[in-house]
Amino acid sequence: MTDDPGGAFVIVGASLAGARAAQALREDGFAGPLVLIGAESELPYERPPLSKDYLMGKHGREKLYVHPREWYAEHDVDLRLGIRVTGVDAAAREVSLAGGQRLGYRALLLTTGSSPRRLPVPGADLDGVLYLRDVDDSDRIKAAIERASRIAVIGAGWIGLETAAAARAAGVEVSVLEMAELPLLRVLGREVAQVFADLHAAHDVDLRFGVTITEITGAGGRADGVRLADGTHVGADAVVVGVGITPNTELASAAGLAVDNGIVVDARLRSSDPAIYAAGDVASAFHPLYGKHLRVEHWANARHQPVAAARAMLGQDVSYDRVPYFYTDQYDLGMEYAGYVEPDGYDRVVFRGDVGRREFIAFWLAGDGRVLAGMNVNIWDVNDAIAALVRSARPVDAAALADASVPLESIPSH
Ligand SMILES: Cc1cc2nc3c(=O)[nH]c(=O)nc-3n(C[C@H](O)[C@H](O)[C@H](O)COP(=O)(O)OP(=O)(O)OC[C@H]3O[C@@H](n4cnc5c(N)ncnc54)[C@H](O)[C@@H]3O)c2cc1C
Repeated sequence: MTDDPGGAFVIVGASLAGARAAQALREDGFAGPLVLIGAESELPYERPPLSKDYLMGKHGREKLYVHPREWYAEHDVDLRLGIRVTGVDAAAREVSLAGGQRLGYRALLLTTGSSPRRLPVPGADLDGVLYLRDVDDSDRIKAAIERASRIAVIGAGWIGLETAAAARAAGVEVSVLEMAELPLLRVLGREVAQVFADLHAAHDVDLRFGVTITEITGAGGRADGVRLADGTHVGADAVVVGVGITPNTELASAAGLAVDNGIVVDARLRSSDPAIYAAGDVASAFHPLYGKHLRVEHWANARHQPVAAARAMLGQDVSYDRVPYFYTDQYDLGMEYAGYVEPDGYDRVVFRGDVGRREFIAFWLAGDGRVLAGMNVNIWDVNDAIAALVRSARPVDAAALADASVPLESIPSH
């Protein structure tokens, strides 16, 4: 059966990026049929609280939603939840839904996001081995934290560290097991990664770096710890795995779109098929500022990029070039980061402020003195100025950067 709304805009993936695209299409005056399809049965929601306030029980689901339920009807958005799109026929301009229905589109936006990478070790399918991506995962981890006296977290990335902080706040003993020498080493480099190692050590997290996991052990079908390559056994009542994500590109690949660590799109967010766009975690978008494709797996990108995609779908001349941004909250540390640095892709880090008290700004500099990225830790209302320094791409005076008395808006060039 073909349900053909003629000139419909169809969005696949009803989370932050999908809901923001629907909003932007309506705000930019699109009055035609608009269908938003999501595999999850929950209203489109934001994920950052799932490892922070929501996980800590500080608020319920209603605070997660991008829009209240009535918003979709009020804006004539045909929201179809709990339905997976199983195929895209790019030639016929149709998507097929689980159950066999087909839906025609005039333009299609893929906001299918990403999924946690699974840990390929024996015992990974035991009860009590938990991943964190959706709201039900967060509920499961919350329940585990309530029951557990100790948990093991595999992976010292953002998800692992935020989960560790939430568990410590609940008084649970936490071991963090990480392959690299420091947490977040590839993203932050040694100088700032150390700040996060110190933060968690100060909260009595049992941090183990340079370890290899060989097995998740269990008894009676339930995880009871993690075995390391040197034979050490780390006991735990639950094991949370946060070892990265992979973009959900299956639909795009099967449809014959260019895929390379994400759906390859240009600065207009348009894929190798001119009627198909992608945005959010799943998109590897050409970034004019960097002159190459970037896949940004963060909240701000999922919030802003779909707006550009929506405008491009409406035929406007757009080029998405925002400076990448992300943030975290762990214990009493809040930070924002603007910019982009390849692993080992910087020359030095300049600090302004008090690193010991965790009130500082870190700047990653290129060899010629350009600011590649900056991170404000427990200092607020400076991130726009940091992003402006990054965007300016001009070599700056490092001494002025380190001097808190020089406003960020007036850092001289080098
Ligand atoms: C626990 C957690 C904490 C985070 N904290 C932060 C943070 O502090 N700061 C930050 O910057 N970022 C954070 N992030 C990252 C941020 O949440 C993501 O970048 C954002 O969710 C990406 O949004 P998205 O809409 O592109 O994709 P997703 O949120 O992954 O949504 C994709 C949606 O598409 C659906 N879908 C996929 N395939 C299909 C299909 N075939 N048919 C129908 N539907 C489909 C999925 O079910 C899903 O609902 C966090 C993420 C998580 C999981």
